[in-house]
Amino acid sequence: MHLQTGLSEDDNRLIAAFHAKRKLFDDYIRVRALGLFTCPGCGYPTLHRRGDFSICEVCFWEDDGEDDETTSVVADALTAFGGVSGPNGQLTLTQNRLNIGRQLEENAAATHGVPDLEPASVLKTLDVFKTKREKIEEKLSPDAQITDPAWQELKNLREDLKRALAVSTHFPYDPSTTPKLF
Ligand SMILES: [Zn+2]
Repeated sequence: MHLQTGLSEDDNRLIAAFHAKRKLFDDYIRVRALGLFTCPGCGYPTLHRRGDFSICEVCFWEDDGEDDETTSVVADALTAFGGVSGPNGQLTLTQNRLNIGRQLEENAAATHGVPDLEPASVLKTLDVFKTKREKIEEKLSPDAQITDPAWQELKNLREDLKRALAVSTHFPYDPSTTPKLF
């Protein structure tokens, strides 16, 4: 039902995995009234509001309000405010979903694991990394130079987070024999 034209079979598998993952987290946070929203870019529950241009800490998508109805267009959400392009540059939502989906799978496979789809575990990981991020941000003054080492720390932390969102499968990962999650 979410098949899109112009995408490879593997792309469509990743997009289907995105929707399944997002639904899993949407259901979890709704039932528990956690006051969170899933990111339209990666499906993880990283947002406290929608459409307020906050940046997802997992996939770095800037939430300009786009969602399933505009996945294949480059948003021009800022035009109304006098801007000339959307905050995510030339990246479409679909491309973002594919990029992060692929990266998370590759990171997980590198440690013989699979992407973490256990909501409680994911929320804990996000929380741990939020604390780490805030500690680094405290070191950054408002006029911090681009050469400030704390920026690099933040960048490294984002990559660490993407590696942390994986769980071990306790046996060597073999894509040809391991069942696809979706
Ligand atoms: Zn995201």
